[in-house]
Amino acid sequence: MTLLEVDGLHTRFPTPRGTVDAVNEVDLRIESGEIVGLVGESGSGKSVLAESVMGIVEEPGEIAGGDIRLHGESLLDLPESERREIRGGTVSMVFQDPMNSLNPTLTVGEQIAEMVRLHQPVGESVSLPAEIKRKIVGAAKNGEAWRKAIEMLESVEIPEPESRATDYPHEFSGGMRQRAMIAMALAAEPDLLIADEPTTALDVTIQAQILDELRDLQDAFDTAILLITHDLAVVAEVCDRVNVMYAGEIVERAEADALFRDPQHPYTQGLIASTPRLDAPTDELEPIEGNVPDLIDIPYACHFAPRCPEAKRECYEVHPDFRPVGDSARYPNRPRGGESNEDHVAACLRRGPEEERL
Ligand code: SF4
Repeated sequence: MTLLEVDGLHTRFPTPRGTVDAVNEVDLRIESGEIVGLVGESGSGKSVLAESVMGIVEEPGEIAGGDIRLHGESLLDLPESERREIRGGTVSMVFQDPMNSLNPTLTVGEQIAEMVRLHQPVGESVSLPAEIKRKIVGAAKNGEAWRKAIEMLESVEIPEPESRATDYPHEFSGGMRQRAMIAMALAAEPDLLIADEPTTALDVTIQAQILDELRDLQDAFDTAILLITHDLAVVAEVCDRVNVMYAGEIVERAEADALFRDPQHPYTQGLIASTPRLDAPTDELEPIEGNVPDLIDIPYACHFAPRCPEAKRECYEVHPDFRPVGDSARYPNRPRGGESNEDHVAACLRRGPEEERL
């Protein structure tokens, strides 16, 4: 069942130099319980897309067009009070830096318990050991919420969760804080968790553990996850489907297997060639030349053209729409199954069915 549908989303920011079209005509679908990756370099518009879904685009930024529907209902039509209820409830978000999201003056357990109280029907009758009651604010009144908070900490593999729940955020390591944030976001039992670069600040081992946990939690809670990252290795680790974003637009979309087996858009191919792999020496990495363009009034049709090794004159004149590529182009009549013939698409004039290629 489709959980989130983003159609033709356009989010822009007026600046003294002109309008920044940070998200430009973007479509995105997320089915219940799946993990979808949104990958691209910084400045590609990934975070603005997430902020648009959450309804937290900072002024003077605005959603200038398109629609965002959750369970079929448009979020853009809702009053702010209802959006706020959805935020942190049906849709939760985990950011890169948990210190900015955790309250330094409350224990980690209290913050998760508060989320439980706000979003889950809990009774207040569970009795707690006296030494824990002494340590937590409001424990006598909120015993069950506290128990659930401890369970959540346990589910994200915080060691000794009963005692660690009474710690303040600064007493946690970076990896534990990120786990605590994930526990807090899941305490609301969201249908969708948006995780924006959730492991970027962590070392590789902790990063791998947290990604494993995200996948286990998605299984256990049947929460859909939109995983936003600049790191293709992260996407390869956990995602069912992947959207590659460049300069405000989605340029390729496929199931994760198909994307890594047979990347089609020159930008995706460049990203993969520049991503370190365990089985290849790092001196074989080929960084993509140039930078993400300034998004103010981009003068050329394919936003990737100035960096693209395959660009032709037409790429500066004709905007590329999505075309079926890979197996989707090779077997256009293959019936829809677990793998769909329409799911692998790329926005490139030099890809797709032979008769359409530049
Ligand atoms: S449309 Fe042209 S410039 Fe753009 S990615 Fe394809 S080949 Fe490169």
